[in-house]
Amino acid sequence: MTGTVGFIGLGTMGCDMARNLLKAGWRVQGHDVREGAAQAMAAEGLVPAASVAEAAAGADIVVTMLPDTPHVQAVVLGEGGLLANPPAGRLVVDMSTIAPTAVREMHVRLKAAGTGFLDAPVSGGPQGAKAGTLSIMVGGEAADFARARPVLAAMGTTINHVGESGAGQTVKLCNQLICGINLQAVCEALALGRAAGVDLSQMREVLLGGSAASWMLDRLGPAMIAGETGAGFRIDLMLKDLRLVRELSDALAVPLPGTALVTTQYVEARAHGEGGNGNQALFKVYDRMTNQ
Ligand code: NAD
Repeated sequence: MTGTVGFIGLGTMGCDMARNLLKAGWRVQGHDVREGAAQAMAAEGLVPAASVAEAAAGADIVVTMLPDTPHVQAVVLGEGGLLANPPAGRLVVDMSTIAPTAVREMHVRLKAAGTGFLDAPVSGGPQGAKAGTLSIMVGGEAADFARARPVLAAMGTTINHVGESGAGQTVKLCNQLICGINLQAVCEALALGRAAGVDLSQMREVLLGGSAASWMLDRLGPAMIAGETGAGFRIDLMLKDLRLVRELSDALAVPLPGTALVTTQYVEARAHGEGGNGNQALFKVYDRMTNQ
């Protein structure tokens, strides 16, 4: 069974997630503040919406895929937002990575107005968004999760309800902590191997066959070895996620020394102008430390 999805935020991830909804037979009413972003997908069947309200009009569910907490708050609670203009099906699913506390506040306000709200952040990067194989971690009420599931199934293959409102974001922040520290470990191994003169491409392949195998080494390793910094999950967005991790760990008084260390390296990367580049650009920090 399909229907209509309002999709807000057609960026790196959102445009391919919306494409997969279209492929699965959903009518998608897409909106982005970026001029022409929705229009550019009209030939693929997306119905461009000029506003949040237009994207939500008559929709079963609205999905948001936006950069950070204030963007989601503006789209949900702001003037012309989803609180005042809910979809006909009265369910909003935010798939961005944002603060769990803000999620719970929006959940309470939407629920009081008769609209359900799920936090459903994702892991798997732009490749996962394109392939429709994202891992989706969902917080919120079970009945809302059951209703959202067919929509989520068009975008991901690992779909789990992990607890009440905000729990999806908590699991996602734990995911990001592992990704950041793991990427740092890959950077260090590549820097050491390079200095010792081994063939890095061969080293990567060997390591992928053993206990050091990881998503970062597999997916980002080739770009790091080639010195490519380009597109993907931006350094700026990872710094946002590390800030969210820090806020959560401060609130719970859980020390995270590894996260603190890798955060300083992300800050250094951004200070050198890498904020708009993909996470593979973290290796540039090691280039500088080793005079490469
Ligand atoms: P992005 O910046 O490429 O896309 C966000 C889109 O939202 C942009 O097109 C922007 O114009 C639009 N936008 C901003 N404010 C808006 C508003 N008020 N109304 C309508 N549109 C608005 O970001 P992305 O890489 O697609 O990431 C989106 C979210 O998913 C982030 O929270 C990110 O942390 C998370 N995420 C990203 C990746 C990745 O690999 N890129 C992976 C997993 C999760």
